[in-house]
Amino acid sequence: MSNSFHPPVRTLMGPGPSDVNPRILEALSRPTIGHLDPEFIRLMDEIKALLQYAFKTKNELTLPISAPGSAGMEAVFVNLLERGDKAIICSNGAFGGRMQENVERAGCTAVMVNDEWGQAVNLEKVETALKQHTDAKLLAFVHAETSTGVGNDAKALAALGQQYDCLVVVDAVTSLGGIPLEVDAWGIDAIYSGSQKCLSCIPGLSPVSFSPKAVEVIKSRKTKVQSWFLDMNLVMGYWGQSTKRSYHHTAPINPLYALHEALLCLQEEGLVSAWERHNLHHRAFVSGLEAMGLSILVDQASRLPQLNAVRVPDGVDEALLRRTLLNQYDLEIGAGLGALAGKIWRVGLMGFASSQKNVLHCLSAFESALVAQNLPISTGRAINAALKVYS
Ligand SMILES: *Cc1c(COP(=O)(O)O)cnc(C)c1O
Repeated sequence: MSNSFHPPVRTLMGPGPSDVNPRILEALSRPTIGHLDPEFIRLMDEIKALLQYAFKTKNELTLPISAPGSAGMEAVFVNLLERGDKAIICSNGAFGGRMQENVERAGCTAVMVNDEWGQAVNLEKVETALKQHTDAKLLAFVHAETSTGVGNDAKALAALGQQYDCLVVVDAVTSLGGIPLEVDAWGIDAIYSGSQKCLSCIPGLSPVSFSPKAVEVIKSRKTKVQSWFLDMNLVMGYWGQSTKRSYHHTAPINPLYALHEALLCLQEEGLVSAWERHNLHHRAFVSGLEAMGLSILVDQASRLPQLNAVRVPDGVDEALLRRTLLNQYDLEIGAGLGALAGKIWRVGLMGFASSQKNVLHCLSAFESALVAQNLPISTGRAINAALKVYS
């Protein structure tokens, strides 16, 4: 006989999921109703409007895919691309590589523009690729590279894509709600995000939005979308006009209550205030780390406030430090991936987790865990340095 599962209460400061606001968990536990109940349809319409607010778009086709961020990524590529098409993909971390996988598995050609992990996407290289491949159908890039803590210049990249007549595709899984993002003003044609990063909702949903131009491309396809579940032509019938909504799949009812509540929290705070809050806690955190003698991998100009790539000092067992944080402080941070494995820790300050309490908690945990490994750091300075940023 098994017992009910009662998870430990952790502070989630990794690359996601982030701490979930208790208000959102409460929403999740409200009574389940039918997915074609008029009240549920009203909720779906509100979620669409709230997502339009969060993405800063008027796009009619704006909705959450009933699956995690990776499904949003796949939805965008399989709907916009048809076998034989060409796509230019910017890659400076793990998620650019996943875009390539999606493009190639759809029977298309991925022209890769690669930059070092930890560096921002180089605009000149992208322009060269656009000039060389005038037949490319789309340009895709990751706005906030969660694997490295780098923010790419989405506004400039989108402008380049438009200039060379490509559809502009953006991975905003970790950027939505954390840093400035303007779908319409920047000319983005297709964008996907995730519920569990800066929206601080439970994992498992992927907000997406498609411009009218992208919708035209999807509607005028010569071939069927290879994925039945992610075919936006079919999903549109379910999430589209409220009068004649038809069954496609059963929406994840309670998770959508949670997403609605998360988006309400964002709207109540205001987008600009949310972006400023992420920035403030990032500055306090970095100030504390530097006072201790630690440093950030990424250049100041392209640092993400919501994902801090902290260099592992020589002589430190990085996995042991993460274990100490988890076991002694109930604090989760992330390890480096790929080329950065063993070289960085990834400390998220996303959504509800982006708070003064968490910054101070994490700095003290780092300090004592490094002292326990006999690293000669400056002790007793980090908290004051962080508090100075707040005062
Ligand atoms: C987390 C993440 C994803 C994948 O989202 P899942 O919800 O884990 O499927 C994609 N892109 C970026 C940039 C991410 O940070």
